[in-house]
Amino acid sequence: MSASGRIITSFNRSVLGNYGRIPVAFVRGRGAYIWDADGRKYLDFFPGWGVGLAGHCPPAVVQAIKKQADRLIFIANSYYHAQQGELAAQLTRLAGFPSRVFFCNSGAEANEAAIKMARRWFQVVKGEKRYEIVTVKDSFHGRTLAALAATGQPKYHKGFAPLPAGFKHIPLEDIKAARKAIGKRTAAVLIETILGEGGVRVPSPAYLKALRGLTRAQGALLIFDEVQAGGGRTGSFFAFKQSGVIPDAVTLAKPLAGGLPMGALLLNAKFASALTPGTHASSFGGGPLVCAAALAAVKVASAPRTLAKVREMGKVIRAGLEGIARRHPHLVKEVRGRGLMLGMELNRPGAGVVNRCLAMGLLINCTHDTVIRMLPPLVITRKEIAVAMDILERALSAETAPAVYRPRV
Ligand SMILES: *Cc1c(COP(=O)(O)O)cnc(C)c1O
Repeated sequence: MSASGRIITSFNRSVLGNYGRIPVAFVRGRGAYIWDADGRKYLDFFPGWGVGLAGHCPPAVVQAIKKQADRLIFIANSYYHAQQGELAAQLTRLAGFPSRVFFCNSGAEANEAAIKMARRWFQVVKGEKRYEIVTVKDSFHGRTLAALAATGQPKYHKGFAPLPAGFKHIPLEDIKAARKAIGKRTAAVLIETILGEGGVRVPSPAYLKALRGLTRAQGALLIFDEVQAGGGRTGSFFAFKQSGVIPDAVTLAKPLAGGLPMGALLLNAKFASALTPGTHASSFGGGPLVCAAALAAVKVASAPRTLAKVREMGKVIRAGLEGIARRHPHLVKEVRGRGLMLGMELNRPGAGVVNRCLAMGLLINCTHDTVIRMLPPLVITRKEIAVAMDILERALSAETAPAVYRPRV
């Protein structure tokens, strides 16, 4: 049995089977590459479901973790430490509006905090009975119960009833439906600036502007979920900067701490009184170690040179995908995305393509059944992109034949 096979066999005896796992066990990563337990090297165009924006083991983050781990790993939020304050100030500066920041440990928790904040703002600060949260169909906001209720995909709701009440889902880009749904009961509209899990769909700036107008007119909050699209992924640190629409709050997570778990809610300072001492909390949120890692990761991801490279490499990949789409019009419906967040919609399930890419040493993802998704790291080079495009095209060309990937177990 291979080394991967031994790890997988023992793993499956004891770990809950709530993930569809690809049968490879990894032991080491560096930049855009990752190695499995049998020494095989892969080019990773989907590091960590989007967590690995800076690549595997980014040197600045590794150094920051080593240094901080030696001094102070953790203290609770009943005390102060410098790193959390510095990180909040840095994120506020990047957001460009006066904000206050709450730190937690994941995207779902950040959205959960946003939902609780919006409800409490109305029910306690404003004394209004508002509670409704409006989100869009095919959205993804996380797996905790409220974040799940916000998620506009019924397949994820199945078997978890009753979900928290007060969530409405409207079709993306349908301004008429938005006008009908957003009213005096609406506490907030919550929307991803780019829908990731829902198939890499980019809402038009006109639609986001319309949501800004409607929420303002009805006195409701506009909250952007940038858990996947934020943190530098699209070529600006916050994706909303490219739409010209300023939200009242924004959530971040996946790449924020360079691979350590961290989520954040940035809230316009004028709503800060929604969450006073004792109203919301996280034991682990914003500890010294994770904040030190995040300070290093954010410094890299927000540097103008980095963001210019994200835009440039994003264009190179996009051109590659569009070339593939032109040569395979019978398989590819559309290429979408921005920066290093790209999707290619097929006219069929994409699992076979993902498996053939894996067998040829390229890691990608398929979401929403038919959308090939790539979230490559910002250290990617033109040469690596050329290699990836070649593998992808060969994997796609084999699509007429059934997928026969045999895991090396
Ligand atoms: C991944 C994701 C989440 C959930 O984040 P977790 O860290 O898995 O809880 C929420 N929103 C968006 C847009 C995401 O991509």
